[in-house]
Amino acid sequence: MDQFKGKKAVFVNSESLGNYSFGPEHPFKPERIRRTYELCRSRGLFDAPAVGVMEVEEPEEGVLKRFHTRGYIEALKRADTGMDVDVDMLHHGLGTAENPVFKGVYRFAELSATATLAAARLVADGVDTAFNPVGGFHHAYRDRASGFCYVNDIAIAIDELLGKNLKVAYVDIDAHHGDAVQDAYYRDNRVLTISMHETGRTLFPWSGFESEIGEGTGEGFNINIPLEPETDDEIFLYLFKGVVMRAVAAFEPDLVVGQFGTDMLATDPLTHLHLTNNGYIEAIETLHSAFRRIVALGGGGYNLNDVEKCWTLLWTELAGFELSEGYGGAMGGVFLGDTSLSGSDLRDMRVYTTGPDKEKLKARADELIAFFKGRVIGFI
Ligand SMILES: [Zn+2]
Repeated sequence: MDQFKGKKAVFVNSESLGNYSFGPEHPFKPERIRRTYELCRSRGLFDAPAVGVMEVEEPEEGVLKRFHTRGYIEALKRADTGMDVDVDMLHHGLGTAENPVFKGVYRFAELSATATLAAARLVADGVDTAFNPVGGFHHAYRDRASGFCYVNDIAIAIDELLGKNLKVAYVDIDAHHGDAVQDAYYRDNRVLTISMHETGRTLFPWSGFESEIGEGTGEGFNINIPLEPETDDEIFLYLFKGVVMRAVAAFEPDLVVGQFGTDMLATDPLTHLHLTNNGYIEAIETLHSAFRRIVALGGGGYNLNDVEKCWTLLWTELAGFELSEGYGGAMGGVFLGDTSLSGSDLRDMRVYTTGPDKEKLKARADELIAFFKGRVIGFI
């Protein structure tokens, strides 16, 4: 840990995680960690005194026990051979098309959780921000795997931070509802959980409606922002700035844990939102300019080219490098071509929903904001 003292941003790299495979047909491709790391490295984004790379290759003993049940852990351990599926595994959500058993799945879960825990500890110990791209598994419950998620590394990290008496805001912008993180803190006002996602009417896990606002002492500390299909950058940012930023500011957290999946982009094969990476990165810039301490985690994202571009933009911002504005290298009004400026070609072309569809999206966004009034933190 000492070697990272004084660093502002640390990229947590567990290169061996990139070697695992959920199977050739499965949309989740662990190789994206290698691609993201390589793209960042080739652009010199690790080359600054305030920036570090932490290699994490040894799973921490007992890391899964911090959140998961003994029964689930035992089933996951048996699944590690990647061979036979027994009834008990199925009972724990393992061995389905969605959450296949594959060789090394147990180590994959342990190591990714260890990397997230390392990122959380770095930020707790004074590094401004740390990023673990193979993290953010927001669908894993205590006793079952779900939605490509075998371990809830997020809850493991948040619990660690709570144990250090830190106040945590969780911000999840993945296209899918962060259901298992919501579930973990639903009755808890020590953690503000916010999830922006495609509405549960049209997308897994079919939950995350605005009416789910927490219970008991947790009431008003769980915010869901369900987005309609075709939501674009403008509507997304309108709600991000108008709801997420407002609620997190009112909560006054010590730090933010972010699940920064990239599957809200128009090009994602699994979802129906219409963002570009311009909207994605503007949300992160907005958050980062207000809250320096961020534990940044990956998440979904099933178009690999988009994932590596988004996460490279994310790292550019977190590590304090200059983000260029334009698509195709337009800078200062001069078009410089696609590859002449390092960084510029990471940006998507800006595309917006228009006409009556846009008006409907705006009306729905205003309806959501009106709903929150008097019900959740920041709106009371
Ligand atoms: Zn997702």
